[in-house]
Amino acid sequence: MTNSAFKTAAVIVAAGRGTRAGAGLPKQWRPLAGQRVADHAIAAFVTHPRVDHVLAVVHPDDTAHTDTLPIPTVNGGASRDASVLAGLNALDGQGFSHVLIHDVARAGIDATTIDAVIDALQTGADGAAPALPVTDALWRGQNGFVTGTQNRDGLFRAQTPQGFAFDAILAAHRAHPGNAADDVEVARAAGLDVTIVAGNERNLKITTPDDFARLEQHLQNDQRGPMDIRLGNGYDVHAFEEGDHVILCGVKIPHSKALKGHSDADVGMHAVTDAIYGAMAEGDIGRHFPPTEAEWKDMDSAVFLKHAVELAASKGFTISNVDCTLICERPKVGPHAAAMMARMGEIMGLATDRVSIKATTSEKLGFTGREEGIAAIATATLVKP
Ligand code: MG
Repeated sequence: MTNSAFKTAAVIVAAGRGTRAGAGLPKQWRPLAGQRVADHAIAAFVTHPRVDHVLAVVHPDDTAHTDTLPIPTVNGGASRDASVLAGLNALDGQGFSHVLIHDVARAGIDATTIDAVIDALQTGADGAAPALPVTDALWRGQNGFVTGTQNRDGLFRAQTPQGFAFDAILAAHRAHPGNAADDVEVARAAGLDVTIVAGNERNLKITTPDDFARLEQHLQNDQRGPMDIRLGNGYDVHAFEEGDHVILCGVKIPHSKALKGHSDADVGMHAVTDAIYGAMAEGDIGRHFPPTEAEWKDMDSAVFLKHAVELAASKGFTISNVDCTLICERPKVGPHAAAMMARMGEIMGLATDRVSIKATTSEKLGFTGREEGIAAIATATLVKP
Protein backbone atom coordinates (compact mmCIF):
# COMPACT_ATOMS: atom_id res chain seq x y z
CA MET A 1 0.00 0.00 0.00
CA THR A 2 2.59 2.52 -1.07
CA ASN A 3 1.90 6.13 -1.78
CA SER A 4 4.20 7.99 -4.14
CA ALA A 5 3.80 11.19 -2.07
CA PHE A 6 5.08 9.36 0.99
CA LYS A 7 8.38 10.93 2.03
CA THR A 8 9.77 10.39 5.49
CA ALA A 9 12.32 12.32 7.54
CA ALA A 10 13.74 11.30 10.90
CA VAL A 11 14.59 13.74 13.68
CA ILE A 12 17.09 12.41 16.21
CA VAL A 13 16.76 14.36 19.45
CA ALA A 14 20.30 14.56 20.82
CA ALA A 15 20.43 17.89 22.67
CA GLY A 16 20.05 16.50 26.20
CA ARG A 17 22.55 17.00 28.98
CA GLY A 18 21.85 13.65 30.67
CA THR A 19 24.90 12.44 32.58
CA ARG A 20 23.21 9.92 34.90
CA ALA A 21 24.62 7.06 32.81
CA GLY A 22 28.05 8.07 34.14
CA ALA A 23 31.41 9.38 32.86
CA GLY A 24 30.38 13.06 33.22
CA LEU A 25 29.65 13.29 29.49
CA PRO A 26 26.19 13.65 27.95
CA LYS A 27 25.26 10.04 27.38
CA GLN A 28 24.76 10.34 23.61
CA TRP A 29 28.52 10.94 23.20
CA ARG A 30 29.67 8.10 25.40
CA PRO A 31 31.24 5.05 23.75
CA LEU A 32 29.02 2.02 23.32
CA ALA A 33 30.15 -1.20 21.64
CA GLY A 34 32.85 0.52 19.58
CA GLN A 35 30.93 3.67 18.58
CA ARG A 36 29.20 6.54 20.35
CA VAL A 37 25.61 6.09 21.55
CA ALA A 38 24.46 8.65 18.96
CA ASP A 39 26.21 6.82 16.11
CA HIS A 40 24.20 3.66 16.76
CA ALA A 41 20.88 5.52 16.86
CA ILE A 42 21.66 7.60 13.77
CA ALA A 43 22.94 4.62 11.75
CA ALA A 44 19.65 2.77 12.25
CA PHE A 45 17.81 5.55 10.39
CA VAL A 46 20.51 6.47 7.85
CA THR A 47 20.70 2.86 6.69
CA HIS A 48 16.93 2.30 6.68
CA PRO A 49 15.67 2.16 3.08
CA ARG A 50 12.31 3.78 3.94
CA VAL A 51 13.80 6.84 5.68
CA ASP A 52 14.63 9.56 3.16
CA HIS A 53 16.44 12.12 5.34
CA VAL A 54 17.91 12.21 8.86
CA LEU A 55 18.49 15.33 10.96
CA ALA A 56 19.96 15.54 14.47
CA VAL A 57 18.94 18.18 16.99
CA VAL A 58 22.00 18.92 19.12
CA HIS A 59 23.19 21.17 21.93
CA PRO A 60 25.30 24.18 20.86
CA ASP A 61 27.93 23.25 23.48
CA ASP A 62 28.52 19.86 21.83
CA THR A 63 30.24 20.92 18.60
CA ALA A 64 33.31 18.87 19.52
CA HIS A 65 31.07 15.81 19.24
CA THR A 66 28.62 16.88 16.54
CA ASP A 67 31.20 17.96 13.95
CA THR A 68 31.84 14.29 13.16
CA LEU A 69 28.20 13.30 12.72
CA PRO A 70 27.40 12.07 9.19
CA ILE A 71 24.10 14.02 9.02
CA PRO A 72 22.99 17.67 9.19
CA THR A 73 22.29 19.16 12.60
CA VAL A 74 20.30 22.02 14.08
CA ASN A 75 20.61 23.44 17.57
CA GLY A 76 17.93 22.50 20.04
CA GLY A 77 16.19 24.56 22.69
CA ALA A 78 15.94 24.65 26.47
CA SER A 79 13.49 21.73 26.68
CA ARG A 80 12.84 18.54 24.77
CA ASP A 81 9.68 20.07 23.26
CA ALA A 82 11.65 23.09 22.07
CA SER A 83 14.32 20.85 20.56
CA VAL A 84 11.80 18.76 18.63
CA LEU A 85 10.13 21.93 17.36
CA ALA A 86 13.52 23.25 16.20
CA GLY A 87 14.03 20.05 14.23
CA LEU A 88 10.55 20.16 12.69
CA ASN A 89 10.94 23.84 11.77
CA ALA A 90 14.22 23.01 10.02
CA LEU A 91 12.44 20.39 7.89
CA ASP A 92 9.36 22.49 7.14
CA GLY A 93 8.75 23.16 3.47
CA GLN A 94 11.03 20.35 2.23
CA GLY A 95 8.22 18.11 1.05
CA PHE A 96 8.21 15.54 3.85
CA SER A 97 4.85 13.87 4.30
CA HIS A 98 5.85 12.13 7.52
CA VAL A 99 8.41 12.41 10.29
CA LEU A 100 9.81 9.95 12.82
CA ILE A 101 10.98 11.54 16.08
CA HIS A 102 13.53 9.47 17.97
CA ASP A 103 15.36 9.89 21.28
CA VAL A 104 19.09 9.42 20.73
CA ALA A 105 19.42 7.46 24.00
CA ARG A 106 17.47 4.60 22.39
CA ALA A 107 20.62 3.37 20.66
CA GLY A 108 19.29 -0.18 20.30
CA ILE A 109 16.58 0.85 17.81
CA ASP A 110 16.17 -1.79 15.11
CA ALA A 111 14.91 -1.75 11.52
CA THR A 112 11.86 -3.88 12.37
CA THR A 113 10.54 -1.35 14.86
CA ILE A 114 11.11 1.51 12.39
CA ASP A 115 9.26 -0.52 9.74
CA ALA A 116 6.31 -1.09 12.09
CA VAL A 117 5.91 2.65 12.65
CA ILE A 118 6.19 3.44 8.93
CA ASP A 119 3.75 0.63 8.06
CA ALA A 120 1.13 2.15 10.35
CA LEU A 121 1.67 5.62 8.88
CA GLN A 122 1.38 4.23 5.35
CA THR A 123 -1.98 2.72 6.15
CA GLY A 124 -3.17 6.22 7.04
CA ALA A 125 -2.59 6.62 10.79
CA ASP A 126 -2.13 10.23 12.04
CA GLY A 127 0.53 8.93 14.35
CA ALA A 128 2.16 5.62 15.34
CA ALA A 129 4.58 4.71 18.09
CA PRO A 130 6.16 1.53 19.48
CA ALA A 131 5.37 0.38 22.99
CA LEU A 132 5.54 -2.72 25.16
CA PRO A 133 2.75 -3.84 27.47
CA VAL A 134 3.60 -3.56 31.16
CA THR A 135 4.08 -7.07 32.53
CA ASP A 136 5.50 -6.42 36.02
CA ALA A 137 3.07 -5.74 38.88
CA LEU A 138 2.96 -2.02 39.61
CA TRP A 139 3.11 -0.56 43.12
CA ARG A 140 2.82 2.76 44.73
CA GLY A 141 5.30 3.27 47.55
CA GLN A 142 6.38 5.77 50.14
CA ASN A 143 9.23 5.81 52.68
CA GLY A 144 10.36 2.38 51.60
CA PHE A 145 6.95 0.70 51.97
CA VAL A 146 4.39 -0.44 49.47
CA THR A 147 1.33 1.74 49.92
CA GLY A 148 -0.81 0.38 47.11
CA THR A 149 -0.95 -1.53 43.85
CA GLN A 150 -1.83 -0.29 40.40
CA ASN A 151 -3.79 -2.32 37.89
CA ARG A 152 -1.50 -2.74 34.89
CA ASP A 153 -4.26 -3.58 32.38
CA GLY A 154 -3.99 -1.32 29.37
CA LEU A 155 -0.67 0.18 30.47
CA PHE A 156 2.22 0.42 28.03
CA ARG A 157 5.86 1.45 28.18
CA ALA A 158 6.30 4.03 25.43
CA GLN A 159 9.28 3.97 23.08
CA THR A 160 10.45 5.94 20.06
CA PRO A 161 10.56 6.58 17.13
CA GLN A 162 7.15 8.18 17.28
CA GLY A 163 5.94 8.84 13.75
CA PHE A 164 3.41 11.37 12.50
CA ALA A 165 2.01 13.12 9.48
CA PHE A 166 4.50 15.97 9.16
CA ASP A 167 2.20 18.99 8.91
CA ALA A 168 -0.04 17.71 11.72
CA ILE A 169 2.75 17.19 14.27
CA LEU A 170 4.40 20.50 13.34
CA ALA A 171 1.12 22.31 13.97
CA ALA A 172 0.59 20.34 17.19
CA HIS A 173 4.03 21.30 18.53
CA ARG A 174 3.55 24.94 17.62
CA ALA A 175 0.25 24.96 19.52
CA HIS A 176 1.42 23.00 22.58
CA PRO A 177 2.14 24.90 25.84
CA GLY A 178 5.20 22.73 26.64
CA ASN A 179 6.34 20.12 29.19
CA ALA A 180 4.99 17.13 27.27
CA ALA A 181 6.36 13.71 28.22
CA ASP A 182 6.76 12.84 24.55
CA ASP A 183 5.51 13.65 21.07
CA VAL A 184 2.53 11.32 21.41
CA GLU A 185 1.28 13.56 24.22
CA VAL A 186 1.71 16.61 21.95
CA ALA A 187 -0.11 14.82 19.11
CA ARG A 188 -3.01 13.71 21.28
CA ALA A 189 -3.39 17.21 22.71
CA ALA A 190 -4.00 18.31 19.11
CA GLY A 191 -6.59 15.57 18.59
CA LEU A 192 -4.47 13.18 16.55
CA ASP A 193 -5.03 9.41 16.89
CA VAL A 194 -1.86 7.46 17.65
CA THR A 195 -1.59 3.78 16.77
CA ILE A 196 0.41 1.51 19.09
CA VAL A 197 2.86 -0.79 17.26
CA ALA A 198 5.10 -3.50 18.69
CA GLY A 199 8.15 -2.21 20.55
CA ASN A 200 11.32 -4.11 21.30
CA GLU A 201 12.99 -4.74 24.69
CA ARG A 202 16.33 -3.84 23.13
CA ASN A 203 15.02 -0.41 22.23
CA LEU A 204 15.61 0.72 25.79
CA LYS A 205 16.35 4.28 26.78
CA ILE A 206 19.83 4.43 28.25
CA THR A 207 19.50 6.19 31.58
CA THR A 208 21.57 4.38 34.20
CA PRO A 209 24.97 2.63 34.03
CA ASP A 210 23.04 -0.67 34.18
CA ASP A 211 21.11 0.23 31.00
CA PHE A 212 24.40 1.02 29.36
CA ALA A 213 25.88 -2.36 30.25
CA ARG A 214 22.75 -4.20 29.10
CA LEU A 215 22.64 -2.54 25.68
CA GLU A 216 26.40 -2.95 25.26
CA GLN A 217 25.93 -6.69 25.74
CA HIS A 218 23.13 -6.81 23.13
CA LEU A 219 25.12 -4.86 20.56
CA GLN A 220 28.31 -6.83 21.11
CA ASN A 221 26.40 -10.07 20.63
CA ASP A 222 25.08 -8.71 17.32
CA GLN A 223 28.52 -7.67 16.15
CA ARG A 224 30.08 -10.93 17.17
CA GLY A 225 27.60 -13.07 15.31
CA PRO A 226 27.35 -16.79 15.89
CA MET A 227 30.23 -18.71 17.46
CA ASP A 228 32.82 -19.81 14.88
CA ILE A 229 33.73 -23.49 15.34
CA ARG A 230 36.38 -25.07 13.11
CA LEU A 231 37.48 -28.65 12.70
CA GLY A 232 40.78 -29.62 11.08
CA ASN A 233 42.49 -32.91 10.34
CA GLY A 234 46.13 -33.83 9.89
CA TYR A 235 47.87 -36.95 8.62
CA ASP A 236 51.59 -37.70 8.56
CA VAL A 237 53.96 -40.60 7.89
CA HIS A 238 57.66 -41.00 8.63
CA ALA A 239 59.82 -43.99 7.63
CA PHE A 240 62.16 -45.79 9.97
CA GLU A 241 65.94 -45.63 9.56
CA GLU A 242 68.94 -46.70 11.63
CA GLY A 243 68.87 -45.37 15.17
CA ASP A 244 68.16 -46.01 18.83
CA HIS A 245 65.15 -43.81 19.66
CA VAL A 246 62.10 -42.07 18.25
CA ILE A 247 60.42 -38.82 19.30
CA LEU A 248 56.65 -39.11 19.45
CA CYS A 249 54.43 -36.23 20.59
CA GLY A 250 57.42 -34.55 22.18
CA VAL A 251 58.59 -37.58 24.17
CA LYS A 252 61.87 -39.43 23.48
CA ILE A 253 61.26 -43.20 23.46
CA PRO A 254 64.09 -45.77 23.22
CA HIS A 255 63.62 -48.00 20.16
CA SER A 256 65.64 -50.20 17.83
CA LYS A 257 65.11 -47.71 14.98
CA ALA A 258 64.78 -43.98 14.46
CA LEU A 259 62.32 -42.00 12.32
CA LYS A 260 63.70 -40.37 9.23
CA GLY A 261 62.84 -36.79 8.55
CA HIS A 262 63.99 -33.27 7.97
CA SER A 263 63.16 -32.13 11.49
CA ASP A 264 63.05 -34.40 14.55
CA ALA A 265 60.48 -36.48 12.57
CA ASP A 266 57.85 -36.27 15.35
CA VAL A 267 55.05 -37.75 13.27
CA GLY A 268 52.38 -37.28 15.98
CA MET A 269 53.19 -33.65 16.62
CA HIS A 270 53.22 -32.99 12.88
CA ALA A 271 49.75 -34.48 12.46
CA VAL A 272 48.38 -32.32 15.31
CA THR A 273 50.08 -29.22 13.91
CA ASP A 274 48.59 -29.85 10.45
CA ALA A 275 45.15 -30.35 12.03
CA ILE A 276 45.37 -26.88 13.61
CA TYR A 277 46.53 -25.28 10.36
CA GLY A 278 43.80 -27.20 8.55
CA ALA A 279 41.07 -25.84 10.81
CA MET A 280 42.08 -22.33 9.69
CA ALA A 281 42.55 -23.32 6.02
CA GLU A 282 46.19 -22.33 6.51
CA GLY A 283 47.81 -25.22 4.63
CA ASP A 284 50.27 -27.41 6.49
CA ILE A 285 53.70 -27.39 8.12
CA GLY A 286 55.42 -27.51 4.74
CA ARG A 287 53.83 -24.20 3.77
CA HIS A 288 54.98 -22.38 6.91
CA PHE A 289 58.34 -24.18 7.29
CA PRO A 290 59.50 -25.25 3.79
CA PRO A 291 61.61 -28.46 4.02
CA THR A 292 64.03 -26.95 1.49
CA GLU A 293 65.24 -24.49 4.12
CA ALA A 294 68.23 -25.86 6.03
CA GLU A 295 67.38 -24.01 9.21
CA TRP A 296 64.58 -26.50 10.01
CA LYS A 297 67.04 -29.46 9.92
CA ASP A 298 66.75 -31.52 13.14
CA MET A 299 64.34 -28.86 14.41
CA ASP A 300 62.37 -29.57 17.59
CA SER A 301 58.85 -29.93 16.17
CA ALA A 302 57.51 -27.95 19.14
CA VAL A 303 58.48 -24.88 17.08
CA PHE A 304 55.95 -25.88 14.40
CA LEU A 305 53.20 -26.64 16.89
CA LYS A 306 53.76 -23.37 18.77
CA HIS A 307 53.58 -21.48 15.48
CA ALA A 308 50.22 -23.06 14.63
CA VAL A 309 48.86 -22.30 18.10
CA GLU A 310 50.04 -18.68 17.94
CA LEU A 311 48.56 -18.26 14.47
CA ALA A 312 45.22 -19.52 15.81
CA ALA A 313 45.39 -17.11 18.76
CA SER A 314 46.20 -14.20 16.43
CA LYS A 315 43.02 -14.97 14.49
CA GLY A 316 40.98 -15.01 17.70
CA PHE A 317 40.67 -18.80 17.95
CA THR A 318 41.04 -20.90 21.06
CA ILE A 319 42.00 -24.54 20.63
CA SER A 320 39.27 -26.52 22.29
CA ASN A 321 40.78 -29.99 21.95
CA VAL A 322 43.08 -32.16 19.87
CA ASP A 323 42.91 -35.91 19.34
CA CYS A 324 45.79 -37.86 17.83
CA THR A 325 46.13 -41.54 16.94
CA LEU A 326 49.58 -43.04 16.33
CA ILE A 327 49.58 -46.08 14.06
CA CYS A 328 52.46 -48.53 14.63
CA GLU A 329 53.28 -52.02 15.88
CA ARG A 330 56.22 -50.78 17.95
CA PRO A 331 57.31 -49.00 20.06
CA LYS A 332 54.45 -49.48 22.49
CA VAL A 333 52.84 -46.07 23.03
CA GLY A 334 50.65 -46.87 26.06
CA PRO A 335 53.37 -46.50 28.72
CA HIS A 336 54.29 -43.06 27.33
CA ALA A 337 50.82 -41.68 26.55
CA ALA A 338 50.47 -39.68 29.77
CA ALA A 339 53.87 -38.02 29.26
CA MET A 340 52.93 -37.25 25.63
CA MET A 341 49.63 -35.63 26.62
CA ALA A 342 51.41 -33.58 29.30
CA ARG A 343 54.09 -32.37 26.88
CA MET A 344 51.62 -31.58 24.07
CA GLY A 345 49.35 -29.77 26.55
CA GLU A 346 52.30 -27.76 27.80
CA ILE A 347 53.26 -26.64 24.27
CA MET A 348 49.68 -25.72 23.34
CA GLY A 349 48.70 -24.22 26.71
CA LEU A 350 45.90 -26.79 27.03
CA ALA A 351 44.69 -28.80 30.01
CA THR A 352 45.52 -32.47 29.58
CA ASP A 353 41.83 -33.41 29.39
CA ARG A 354 41.75 -31.53 26.07
CA VAL A 355 44.70 -33.44 24.63
CA SER A 356 44.12 -37.04 23.59
CA ILE A 357 46.97 -39.26 22.41
CA LYS A 358 46.22 -42.88 21.67
CA ALA A 359 47.66 -45.63 19.50
CA THR A 360 46.64 -48.53 17.38
CA THR A 361 48.41 -51.20 15.40
CA SER A 362 47.38 -52.00 11.84
CA GLU A 363 47.25 -55.72 12.58
CA LYS A 364 50.58 -56.22 10.81
CA LEU A 365 49.06 -55.00 7.55
CA GLY A 366 50.64 -52.44 5.26
CA PHE A 367 53.77 -50.37 5.85
CA THR A 368 53.02 -49.76 9.50
CA GLY A 369 52.31 -53.48 9.96
CA ARG A 370 55.65 -54.33 8.37
CA GLU A 371 57.28 -51.78 10.71
CA GLU A 372 58.61 -49.68 7.86
CA GLY A 373 57.38 -46.50 9.48
CA ILE A 374 54.83 -44.79 11.72
CA ALA A 375 51.66 -42.97 10.65
CA ALA A 376 49.64 -40.50 12.68
CA ILE A 377 46.21 -38.98 12.24
CA ALA A 378 44.91 -36.02 14.25
CA THR A 379 41.87 -33.81 14.67
CA ALA A 380 41.74 -30.32 16.20
CA THR A 381 38.74 -28.18 17.17
CA LEU A 382 39.16 -24.40 17.14
CA VAL A 383 36.59 -22.03 18.61
CA LYS A 384 36.12 -18.28 18.22
CA PRO A 385 33.51 -17.14 20.72
MG1 MG B 1 56.10 -34.91 9.10
